[in-house]
Amino acid sequence: MFENSGRTELSDLGEFGLIDHLAKNVRTFHTATIKGIGDDAAVIDNGNTYNLLSTDMLMEGSHFDLTYTPLKHLGYKAVVSNISDIAAMNGKATHITVSLGMSNRFSLEAIEELYIGILAACNLYQVDLVGGDTTSSAKGLVISIACYGEVAKEKVTYRSGCKEGDLLVVSGDLGAAYLGLHILEREKRIFLERPDFQPDLEGNDYLIQRQLKPEARIDVVAILDSLGIVPTSMIDVSDGLSSELHHLAKQSQLGFTVYEDKLPIDPIAYQRAIDLGLDPTVAMLNGGEDYELLFTVPQSAYEILKKENDLSIIGHAVAAGEGLHLISKSNIKHKLTAQGWKSF
Ligand code: ADP
Ligand code: MG
Repeated sequence: MFENSGRTELSDLGEFGLIDHLAKNVRTFHTATIKGIGDDAAVIDNGNTYNLLSTDMLMEGSHFDLTYTPLKHLGYKAVVSNISDIAAMNGKATHITVSLGMSNRFSLEAIEELYIGILAACNLYQVDLVGGDTTSSAKGLVISIACYGEVAKEKVTYRSGCKEGDLLVVSGDLGAAYLGLHILEREKRIFLERPDFQPDLEGNDYLIQRQLKPEARIDVVAILDSLGIVPTSMIDVSDGLSSELHHLAKQSQLGFTVYEDKLPIDPIAYQRAIDLGLDPTVAMLNGGEDYELLFTVPQSAYEILKKENDLSIIGHAVAAGEGLHLISKSNIKHKLTAQGWKSF
């Protein structure tokens, strides 16, 4: 069914190219399958409401480094990233399954730590852990979580659905998780070179917390609901704002104009970026794992949304032909490239 001959390197396709390629040959058999591959979660009609289903896998070495990631936090984050994908459909997560692959390097106590984090997230987000799978792995730790949830039919929000002129909104602040990772990586390098050195994490608590123990913005889903707003499109910020904007643009067949001076950054994150010789705007655009919600609303929602302190209106949707641009603080128009994950 694949019309390929010879050998194609996965690195030539990248993650999204590979998914698109595989998706071409996937057909669905059930009319209840409202949305398959291509959004933050699949959407399945159960008659009264829509069920949502998504899955995420974390691999040691590619997604986390246990030299500075406590297992407790890792478990918590693995659950949160899945709940965030359900939130990105404007839905509520209700159930998860947890599958683990682990090498004999891990003790019972280590896996217990991981589960303390998993269960803490289940408790906070009121999600039931209802199954999973346990296997050995030749090397390292693999955590794969599937998440199930629900949304009222009239409230489901896809990556597609944005209209020209819609306002682009993001919750919370951006870039802090990336800066937290940068600081942890730096301390690791110093530690490897000088094991007698104590890590210097002073004043970076917020950034490190954003990296190691993020939260899913189910509160934003609830706020939008209470304001009577159904976004026209939505995605969660896992790979970075630029990358997510490309997804919204592609699925909605639009472009976006974003204003640098509207991008939300925590003051400590801003200062630390400068200290580290990084551009705070680049951290906001290309840094990932903030798990904020990025969504669009009709212009008529402006008066209501501008009162929400935790939501920033950062730009608007334009015609597809106009592409994706950032208007800098000095009023220069820059093209935005996707900086999504591309490293097989
Ligand atoms: P997210 O970053 O929100 O978790 P991804 O970028 O991982 O989303 O995935 C995008 C879409 O591709 C989703 O609908 C996901 O279910 C689907 N997908 C990812 N990998 C595969 C795969 N190997 N086979 C089929 N669908 C996949
Ligand atoms: Mg997502």
